[in-house]
Amino acid sequence: MTLYWKVEPDASHAHPFLLEAGKMIAEGGTVAFPTETVYGLGADARNTEAVEAVFRAKGRPADNPLIVHIADRRQLDGIVRETDGAALRLMDAFWPGPLTIVLPAAPGALSPRVTAGLPTVGVRMPAHPVALALIRAAGCPVAAPSANRSGRPSPTNAAHVREDLDGRIGGIVDGGPAGVGLESTVVVVEKGLTGGDTQIRVLRPGGVTVADLRRELPGVPIAAEIEEPAEGQTPRSPGMKYAHYAPKGRLTIVEGSPERVADRIRRSLSEAKRNGERTGVLAVRERADLYDADVIAACGSANDPEEAARNLYAALRRFDEAGVTCIWAEQFPFPPDGIGLALANRLSKAAGHRIERV
Ligand code: AMP
Ligand code: MG
Repeated sequence: MTLYWKVEPDASHAHPFLLEAGKMIAEGGTVAFPTETVYGLGADARNTEAVEAVFRAKGRPADNPLIVHIADRRQLDGIVRETDGAALRLMDAFWPGPLTIVLPAAPGALSPRVTAGLPTVGVRMPAHPVALALIRAAGCPVAAPSANRSGRPSPTNAAHVREDLDGRIGGIVDGGPAGVGLESTVVVVEKGLTGGDTQIRVLRPGGVTVADLRRELPGVPIAAEIEEPAEGQTPRSPGMKYAHYAPKGRLTIVEGSPERVADRIRRSLSEAKRNGERTGVLAVRERADLYDADVIAACGSANDPEEAARNLYAALRRFDEAGVTCIWAEQFPFPPDGIGLALANRLSKAAGHRIERV
């Protein structure tokens, strides 16, 4: 049975429900909780059995490492080997917040299952009062991937977590909707080839944008081309090689001039209907009326990428609920430097990189 606790979004670590949930984590259980990105599924990062239970509940491949969540910078001491100047500046600027920093792991401190055998560990301090309170109540570093079945869209509210994991985990802390709606940005600080200059490499775009990083670290080079590893190649971030965020129906992104995109999607819809498919369209609100499909999901306005980020995963889940088999998405009309980069990345992964250019 999965326990369920409903708390206010600003509940403190003295809240009796959070004490109970924290105790469950401290005793080796698994608890889902809200963060300012998406809901996470947490376990004591030092406890291999607990961490294995997280992988099992999600059906997550064992070589995809988990992000470790802390509530206090002092918790870093036991977890990482060293933090250089650039990493400290990132923490000063963005913690608590949606930025995961990959750091050299202190040997033996965490369960080897957390890091999937890598010599590094991704750490972040979430900016959600309930997440921070729960980590404090647990009294340990909390390993937490998104609280969805592996491959599905990440959960942005407690109902999504229930859909995927009810009966498979110890408890769910419901603290209302998550914030950003997309996962954290993952970065690693790299030493320059000459051993001198460092640079920041973005491994996964997310809530902290490249523009934010540039603003806070002027003069530090930032590599932000998100490479999709080629077949058989080892990615820098193991999670990059897996299908992600995907609805059950076949999702295709259509990209091009607004008229041609509308044209192509309308023709594809007619054909799919003739073939007896249940159809869906994902578009910005201003263009949703252009289409006639079984489910039309407008995840936000054309001038509000943050709104689209908050609603994307819930929109993808709506197609599943309605049994939609074929979905067409307009490419998002957002510039690629802000949260638009993360949105394009998630949509492309959700579509298995199926993109039609018209
Ligand atoms: P999720 O927990 O589902 O948000 O996924 C975590 C992401 O962070 C995955 O893409 C992981 O591959 C990535 N990640 C976690 N730890 C590391 C690490 N030590 N090095 C590189 N990437 C990591
Ligand atoms: Mg995930």
